[in-house]
Amino acid sequence: MLVVMQPNASSADIDRVCEEITRQGFKPLPLPGEVRTAIGLLGDDAKVDWSYIEGLPGVSSVLIVQKPFRQASREWKPETTIVEIAPGVRFGGTDVPVVAGPCSVESEQQILAAARQVKAAGGSALRGGAFKPRSSPYAFQGLGKQGLELLALARAETGLAIVTEAMDERGADMVAEYADCIQIGARNMQNYSLLRHVGTLRKPVLLKRGMAATINDLLLSAEYILAEGNPNVILCERGVRTFDSATRNLFDLTAVPVVQKLSHLPIVADPSHGTGLRDKVTPMARAAVAAGADGILVEMHPTPDRALSDGAQSLYPDQFGELVKQLRTIAAAIGRSVTAPSGA
Ligand code: PEP
Ligand code: MN
Repeated sequence: MLVVMQPNASSADIDRVCEEITRQGFKPLPLPGEVRTAIGLLGDDAKVDWSYIEGLPGVSSVLIVQKPFRQASREWKPETTIVEIAPGVRFGGTDVPVVAGPCSVESEQQILAAARQVKAAGGSALRGGAFKPRSSPYAFQGLGKQGLELLALARAETGLAIVTEAMDERGADMVAEYADCIQIGARNMQNYSLLRHVGTLRKPVLLKRGMAATINDLLLSAEYILAEGNPNVILCERGVRTFDSATRNLFDLTAVPVVQKLSHLPIVADPSHGTGLRDKVTPMARAAVAAGADGILVEMHPTPDRALSDGAQSLYPDQFGELVKQLRTIAAAIGRSVTAPSGA
């Protein structure tokens, strides 16, 4: 339920509504907007006496939020949320930040080379997993804490923001210490205790769509994070499994406008995991920007042929440079821009 206040409602009116919500045993959540304040109500609102609240001074209307994902819905918050993961790196506005880097952090030399290449090409953030959720327990699992230290080193040199994955609660605390944005991978999209935990942290979260998750599932997972008080959630379309083995996943670009209609949260697109094939990454990254994605996440490796994970879908550095140039043109055509902050 959402109590929409009149534009001229006083702070005493707002306090009065909050008191009444509390009196009825619920938690009020004031949501100041540009024109008017709304007050969200958390909990099972079926039992609320809204007719009384509707009559309080300064109240314009009471909206019953129909969607199961309440705080993630556009009904709850009409304006798109802008998530700034580091100074000038904003998702959800007119900027379209490009997050790029290898699948995994492998060595100091590899991640520093990748960071320089991302920076030179005009990327805004460096990606690279230190904790890797691999389908096989025998595959490279990541460098762990050492990988996070190497990412921090790359940030210190290039000024790029860092996006990296956490697989469990303890890892999330560690990632939060070193990175600018915590990635929750497709395999953990429905790890609800992990979602709740990152909801209690103050770091932005990049939440990837599960490989068999519906858009409703994705938004409900985002709701877990929002419900714990962390408003900085960026969604990510990375493809879903289907019957067709022509590509690694089916890159569901329709999810971009669908999510943007249903939710105020920004959504980025990952054509690397979405297609799994290097030569498909560039065309689908271009399509994602054209479709209105609020950012692009792409795998790029200094030497993809020697990558310890996802080499076949990683762009060569020169391909990445060319891609960013093309994305700039496409973004400009729809009134957006792929510009990176100048940084260190
Ligand atoms: C990754 O970003 O390297 C990754 C493991 O992605 P996903 O969770 O989408 O498979
Ligand atoms: Mn990968």
